[in-house]
Amino acid sequence: MTVEQADMKLDGNAIGGLLAEIFNMEMTTAEGTCGGCGAVNAVGRVDVYVNAPGTVVRCPACGQVLMRIVRGRGRYWIDLSGIRCLELIEPGT
Ligand SMILES: [Zn+2]
Repeated sequence: MTVEQADMKLDGNAIGGLLAEIFNMEMTTAEGTCGGCGAVNAVGRVDVYVNAPGTVVRCPACGQVLMRIVRGRGRYWIDLSGIRCLELIEPGT
């Protein structure tokens, strides 16, 4: 990995606003189960890479891609195939 790529690594809080736009919920406290290793991590704690195309979210335990989000031309494309389960906290609880 180059230094430039390493600098692009953020935590899940960096995409809290983007995910809130899509899901209309607080997402940094949502917990995702990695489809690769089974690790459960709050979205606020996953590894986020904002290098194009779009945003890639990786499991901090095994590095598997959990989520890909591309925004453009008035649309969002969301690939959640790397997440086995996404647990959201119901608003108001
Ligand atoms: Zn994993």
